[in-house]
Amino acid sequence: MLCKRCGSEGPGAFNGEIGIHFPGLDGLDQPVVWVFPELAICFHCGFTEFTVPERELSVLSTGKAVEGNGPEQENKERRS
Ligand SMILES: [Zn+2]
Repeated sequence: MLCKRCGSEGPGAFNGEIGIHFPGLDGLDQPVVWVFPELAICFHCGFTEFTVPERELSVLSTGKAVEGNGPEQENKERRS
């Protein structure tokens, strides 16, 4: 595999933990979106590539948290 930015060989694979914030002061009222992707990091130029999962993409595109599928909601459903 080649780095898409500089063409160097062999970006390293790592596990990542990334909090994505909406920009600006309005972003303070928006949810922080956490993703735990596999990162491909180029040791030559630092370019890093990862994919945001579909559920988190939905939060980023709408600015609204997804309801009904999180662990908290699942626990509520189990109790009722
Ligand atoms: Zn590179």
